[in-house]
Amino acid sequence: MLLTLTTMHRPATDLGYLLHKNPARCQSFPLSFGQAHVFYPEVAEDRCTAGLLLDVDPVAMVRGRGGVSQTALAQYVNDRPYVASSFMSVAIAQVFGPALDGRSKERPELATTPIPMCATLKVLPCRGGENFLYEVFQPLGYEIDAVRYPLDEQFGEWGQSPYYSVTLSKSTTLSDLLTHLYVLIPVFDNFKHYYVGNEELEKLLKHGEGWLAAHPKREAITHRYLKHRHSLAREALARLAEQDDQPDENLVESRSDGREDSLEKPISLNERRLGDVVSALKSCGAKRVLDLGCGEGKLLRELLKEKQFEAIVGMDVAFRSLEIAKERLRLDDLPSRQEDRIQLLHGSLMYRDKRFAGFDAAAVVEVIEHLDPPRLAAFERVLFEFARPATVVLTTPNREYNVVWPNLAAGAFRHEDHRFEWSREQFQTWARGMSERFGYTVEFRAVGPEHADFGSPTQMAVFQKAEAGHG
Ligand code: SAH
Repeated sequence: MLLTLTTMHRPATDLGYLLHKNPARCQSFPLSFGQAHVFYPEVAEDRCTAGLLLDVDPVAMVRGRGGVSQTALAQYVNDRPYVASSFMSVAIAQVFGPALDGRSKERPELATTPIPMCATLKVLPCRGGENFLYEVFQPLGYEIDAVRYPLDEQFGEWGQSPYYSVTLSKSTTLSDLLTHLYVLIPVFDNFKHYYVGNEELEKLLKHGEGWLAAHPKREAITHRYLKHRHSLAREALARLAEQDDQPDENLVESRSDGREDSLEKPISLNERRLGDVVSALKSCGAKRVLDLGCGEGKLLRELLKEKQFEAIVGMDVAFRSLEIAKERLRLDDLPSRQEDRIQLLHGSLMYRDKRFAGFDAAAVVEVIEHLDPPRLAAFERVLFEFARPATVVLTTPNREYNVVWPNLAAGAFRHEDHRFEWSREQFQTWARGMSERFGYTVEFRAVGPEHADFGSPTQMAVFQKAEAGHG
């Protein structure tokens, strides 16, 4: 059973520091169920791959413990030596422990920086079918390449096996990648090689922190990880639900340093932006409007003032922000007619959601730059293909304008949680691509004072659904 980890980060050989394993040497580690070998099949400046090969000894497994209820033959003849299973998770934790925890003595910063990574599992048993593979890894932002193996190459009529070779690619920290593999590999398998109890539950919650609670397949993952021990799974899910109520550090705009606010203050860009968004929404004649990534509800407050908008729905992934929005808008105290006009939804732009359908217009204000680039693809479909409002008003910072701000260090983003900031050309290329792909027209507007060379601080695109075609 082989797991390979590849990076294209430069210098790619830093992978050795991240894994705490010297690329120049082949190393072996004895584990209770066999032997683990670490070696580097490719080592170059622009691409480096580490392999973790498990040599599982089925005989040692049988000797080691009793109580595996299988027929005698199946104890010795089984797929354990050849497939990725919880053995691989144990090996990851034991052989790559510091990397799993995000620690690196030599490259501490790189250990917490997303870099282009790709993991290949040579044989992953996908019980539950190929769909499950996509359902589990796609929401985490991975690109997935899966190739199914036939049961026996010499006997095509026997059909397909449940085994796949799977490659997962993403710009991610090595620690996140290993964590996902650690938790999810056993989820695809039919059995675990040891009894699950409270310790497993704690491991699941520890390694699932920050991603499992919001995962659409969290229930299936939890049940399978805990070997369908229902009481354990129930407890795990209840505790995950609590976690999910905390604002997600990765997604929530943290205002702790107030940097974005104070930078933009002199020109009150925020107000200009809201004003421009409201007028774009008004002029398209929208009655039912959606504010995707509404945050603490600043736009919602402006929308409520306009009678034209009969139904106003704010959505955000951060539960805490929604609570603040609810307080600020005094939703509990609104007269009932007003109250019926507005609704807050806890959701995510990463997942298709029926509740987003049926609106005349959607605003997506200063949100896309908070999304990891590999996850933009999911967002694009959620918005333009599934929610599919007649009008989309979307804003994002114009990176070129940053040089105009004296307080912003060269090359820095306006906010620490921004994953990217686009130039006008980048934004327009993206937006035109969206309009062509999904049957919209698009028009660009400047928001805020325009600089002759660098344009305006905020850029806005207004998309209109084309009448013919996509429907
Ligand atoms: N539109 C608001 C907030 C912008 S900050 C305004 O202009 O003031 C970005 C917002 O996007 C945050 O509230 C954050 O929680 C939200 N967000 C980030 N990722 C999201 C996701 N995947 N789904 C929904 N909202 C998300």
